[in-house]
Amino acid sequence: MNHEQPDLDKKDILLIDDMADNLRVLSSLLAKEGYNVRKALNWQMAVTACQTVLPDLILLDIMMPEVDGYEACQRFKAWNLTADIPVIFISALDDTFDKVKAFKVGGVDYITKPFELAEVLVRVQNQLRLRSAQIEVLKLNTELEQRVTQRTWELEKALRKLQEEITSRQQLQSKLLEIALHDSLTGLPNRVLFIRRLEKALNRAQQEPNYQFALLYLDCDRFKVVNDSLGHLVGDELLIAIAHRLKKSLMPSDTLGRLGGDEFGILLENLTDINAVIQVAERILQQLSLAFKLSRYEVFMNASIGIAWGNRDYERPEYLLRDADTAMYRAKALGRVRYHIFDPGMYHEAIKLLELENDLQRAVARQEFLVYYQPIISLTTGKIAGFEALVRWQHPTRGLISPIEFIPIAEETGLISAINIWVLQSACHQLHLWQNHPAIPDDITMSVNLSARLFSHPNLIAQIDRIIHESQVNPANLELEITESVIMENSQAVKTILQQLQERKIKLIMDDFGTGYSSLSYLHSFPLNGLKIDKSFVKRMQDNQEDMGLVPAMIGIAESMGMRAIAEGVETIEQLAQLRILNCDFAQGYLFSKPIEQQLALNLLTTSPQW
Ligand code: C2E
Ligand code: MG
Ligand code: MG
Repeated sequence: MNHEQPDLDKKDILLIDDMADNLRVLSSLLAKEGYNVRKALNWQMAVTACQTVLPDLILLDIMMPEVDGYEACQRFKAWNLTADIPVIFISALDDTFDKVKAFKVGGVDYITKPFELAEVLVRVQNQLRLRSAQIEVLKLNTELEQRVTQRTWELEKALRKLQEEITSRQQLQSKLLEIALHDSLTGLPNRVLFIRRLEKALNRAQQEPNYQFALLYLDCDRFKVVNDSLGHLVGDELLIAIAHRLKKSLMPSDTLGRLGGDEFGILLENLTDINAVIQVAERILQQLSLAFKLSRYEVFMNASIGIAWGNRDYERPEYLLRDADTAMYRAKALGRVRYHIFDPGMYHEAIKLLELENDLQRAVARQEFLVYYQPIISLTTGKIAGFEALVRWQHPTRGLISPIEFIPIAEETGLISAINIWVLQSACHQLHLWQNHPAIPDDITMSVNLSARLFSHPNLIAQIDRIIHESQVNPANLELEITESVIMENSQAVKTILQQLQERKIKLIMDDFGTGYSSLSYLHSFPLNGLKIDKSFVKRMQDNQEDMGLVPAMIGIAESMGMRAIAEGVETIEQLAQLRILNCDFAQGYLFSKPIEQQLALNLLTTSPQW
């Protein structure tokens, strides 16, 4: 042992013995060996000594008054301050020393008196080394634990940092994406994002047959004027206000995007029909028609809207956009502040019909109709026997419209009565002029088509009487063409009207014969003068060279019922020749003449051509 060691480095040994002599001997012995030795005569002093400085080793006498060695040891072990300090028992030879008990209460070794100097030192040294080693191990363990904790903490910190980094990167990324896909001024989806949404809708339409969508392309009318005159800041403010108003006119599920300067796109989904789209367009136009109160100005801004009905056949969303754009330009061309629908298939027809219907109302008031005349040739004389009056509509913008297009609408809306009566009036007036023409035979006839709808007209006969009276025509030269639908009902009212017409010597012709469902027995019970064989049968006559189709049978029916047969739609010399062989009475068709204006008809009449 090194005697020059500083006290602090010396191991501290606490000697506890009630015999002052024992203490002295042992203490000097250990002090000589370089230990720092403190002495306690009883438990209380030992406690005080421990509280002052914790000893490295305790040497404890067994036999002590009040608190004996076992009890003291037990208390040291129970006291956490001293629990780990090794305790070596000291026992006298005559003591009834219980080694088992000594170890049980926590002692690590024992020394018996009288001491064997070397033995004491060895035992003390051993325990101190053991203790040092224990402390070292403990220290190492604690250090290790601390290092592990530290490392764990550092790792956790690094992980947290990494996580934060990832999150902030993701946020940045989505922020960048947000910027890339949105319009910075209005915050709306930009063209790129809008097209993506369109594409999604298109894909969905291709998968779900019931899913319908539409695209609205909105362009502000004369936005440039505001921008140029009031400046870009006002322009920007206005665009934001427009975006806001558009958003308000839409459902949250609709997609509104800014496609360019003053252009917006609207994607409407889960639709059932075009009417919902029209409603939205109308609502938007209405909303935009209200003044925009900006910070310094009050501005009015209207828009034109092009509508494209979503269709699974579109290959790319851009095509939809293009069509809606085209429709938007059409809306502008038609006078702005309106919407226009691009090629929405069947719906388009409905819209056109609606437009036509509106126009037709006006046409009646403005008398936009014309009557064309098509000659009817007698196959016995080869000369013109009469004309069929065929109405045309001189539409102010769309030009001449065929009756095939507007008669069904006129029938549906009830406008047919006014139109038909007007045609009858014009044709009778024309007939009167021709009948009084010196170069025209006065038995010339005039055929006028009579819509089935007119038969429910309460004063049809009175109207016809009036016309005959006013035009002063011979009613015997007037022929009215009716369709099979008129007699199909076989109603008494119709029969009465037809009888009244017959009484006036007006001829009745069954038009388009063969295309309806009238039975021959019905034909018998009506006072008909002629059957006009529909052009479809005349056309097919040529296809069936041998039997000439149904035309011979139809001519036979007419003959057997005492009616004349008139062949419609004769276009070729062959057809004419065949009809002659079959003894058909009359023929009408492009071979002779198309329906023509009255002046041309007059020219034709006066030249008296012969076929
Ligand atoms: P419709 O009474 O059967 O008239 C004959 C139609 O056949 C006319 O058509 C005529 O232009 C056409 N046509 C004449 N010759 C030929 C030919 O050789 N080949 C072909 N392919 N066609 C020929 P449009 O003038 O277009 O009239 C169509 C239909 O409209 C008429 O059929 C008639 O049902 C109706 N319609 C015309 N005017 C009036 C009218 O004033 N009142 C009523 N209620 N219906 C009318
Ligand atoms: Mg006809
Ligand atoms: Mg016909």
